[in-house]
Amino acid sequence: MLPPIANRFVAGETAAAAFDHTRSMNDDGIGVLLNLLGEHHGDPVDVETDMRAYRQLVRDVSRADLDACVSVKPSQIGLDVSEELFARNYRSLVAHAADHDVFVWCDMEDSDTTDVTLDTFVDVARDHPWTVGQCLQSNLKRTRADLERVVDVPGAIRIVKGAYDEPASIAYTEKSRVNEAYRDDIAFLFEHRDRGIAVGSHDPAMVSLARRLGEEHGTDYEVQMLMGVRMDAQRDLAAQGVDVRQYVPYGGKWLSYFYRRVRERKGNALFALRAILGR
Ligand code: FAD
Repeated sequence: MLPPIANRFVAGETAAAAFDHTRSMNDDGIGVLLNLLGEHHGDPVDVETDMRAYRQLVRDVSRADLDACVSVKPSQIGLDVSEELFARNYRSLVAHAADHDVFVWCDMEDSDTTDVTLDTFVDVARDHPWTVGQCLQSNLKRTRADLERVVDVPGAIRIVKGAYDEPASIAYTEKSRVNEAYRDDIAFLFEHRDRGIAVGSHDPAMVSLARRLGEEHGTDYEVQMLMGVRMDAQRDLAAQGVDVRQYVPYGGKWLSYFYRRVRERKGNALFALRAILGR
């Protein structure tokens, strides 16, 4: 069972627990992205196990009266086995989701995976318009050109700052430069799209920018944040009429995800320490 210390960031070990969390978020006007924890599967058997779980999740989401999408990682659905397996699984999951009227998001992993992930997104979105969304990372210097390529593709785009350490030859490494690129990319999306924009950030300055541009351009957009991070802000934004969607991880492989959240921010580490000490 999930220890209480982890359940700030992870909904539970089962889809049923994630559905309970989804219901309570939906009651607060917040949609969710359900992510079965798992990545870097090198064995096709592990890939197929998670694919089966995702197909079942799609059917369960479709049957339940919930505001929920599904979110997958490339290396979870085959990319560490082969590009062909990844592309086949991405395509078949989105086709299955389209049959069940469920939306699928694909995360973006490190820069070695960007080309194949984007190529597959573009192909799949053209065959299943507005059923799939793809994450892009503003810390990569290539991203402006990638946005120009995908801006007319009928799929949603989640723009994030980028979570992977990348070399300075291909990525902005100074925080201020990443923020500048992120602002520019958000502005680019609002200038060139009239739907399918998601801003994945907890940064109040970036959320304000999205709100201002959304009003200026009259464009629908959503703000996406992680479960357990700025939960009050998520509720406040939803109460003010902003479309908010929360990334909700669940499953047995919660330990490494939990440590990543704790490591990335002092406040999270203090939270963990207080939970351990029972204060
Ligand atoms: P930061 O630059 O980390 O922080 C800026 C400001 O935001 C802080 O100064 C503070 O005011 C506020 N803030 C940030 N965190 C907290 C906190 N814990 N508590 C209180 N205030 C806080 N990255 C990828 O590479 N690939 C993906 O597919 C991907 N998907 C994502 C999906 C979602 C829904 C989200 C939210 C993020 C995703 N990321 C992904 C991670 C992303 O790239 C960033 O690493 C991460 O969001 C941190 O950047 P930030 O914009 O939230 O703010």
